[in-house]
Amino acid sequence: MNITILKAGYCTHLEKMASKQGSWKTVPFPALFALIEHPTQGYILFDTGYSNHVEQSMKQFPYGIYGKMTPIYLNKRESAKEQLEAMGISPVEVKTIILSHFHADHIGGCRDFPEARFICSGKDYGYLQNKTGFSALKNAFIPSLLPEDFTKRVGFIEECPVIVFPLKNSPFTKAYDVFGDQRILTVELPGHTGGQFGLFVRRKDGPLFFVSDACWLSETYKNLSYPNPIASLIMDNWTQYKETIKKIHDFHKLYPEVQIIPTHAMDFFKEKES
Ligand SMILES: [Zn+2]
Repeated sequence: MNITILKAGYCTHLEKMASKQGSWKTVPFPALFALIEHPTQGYILFDTGYSNHVEQSMKQFPYGIYGKMTPIYLNKRESAKEQLEAMGISPVEVKTIILSHFHADHIGGCRDFPEARFICSGKDYGYLQNKTGFSALKNAFIPSLLPEDFTKRVGFIEECPVIVFPLKNSPFTKAYDVFGDQRILTVELPGHTGGQFGLFVRRKDGPLFFVSDACWLSETYKNLSYPNPIASLIMDNWTQYKETIKKIHDFHKLYPEVQIIPTHAMDFFKEKES
């Protein structure tokens, strides 16, 4: 399978938030997403990054507060839809979007793909589904980023077949086999949100493990250097969050050949994989 790592905008945060050793200056957090060319399922996206819809939605109360806390920078023609079009891929050719979780930098482009079905955590969606206003904002969720017919187009990861994780000593012991062909596996990475999922895929040059927001920086899982405890304020469960980081760290020690890709890691800013 061809897999291309792309970026659709970035936001800024205090470096101190992501790393105890970090400075008090703001640093960019790229919003990565992945384009996967599956032999029978066609084009698949894992997350969607930012889009103009996010900027628009933040003009509405109370979501402007979200925009103030994490200012967004999106270049012209940088949304997932526009980048795919530049590659010669029409938005209607994207048949599946797998969402790691429902924060705006992951669901920002969902409205741009009218033929896609969505695959996401039923746990997270159930929790957020009826939230609006401040109660949605508290969860960094902007309901208008999802298309109106989202409920008709969604399926839940938890309903996919469960398999034993294919790397036998892995601290992650089970995976969900999204299409039943063992090509696209999702893995539970709780803590950042209650039902966050990562994606494990194989390609010619070796496997990739997209870990979404399970950690923000590569140094976090490489050196087991946890973020500043101040970050616990925005986590669903700080203990689980740290447990998940520890698992990714142990996984990396066991399988250094697997490329681990946190959504906001600067080291993948411009990298393209195939
Ligand atoms: Zn997030």
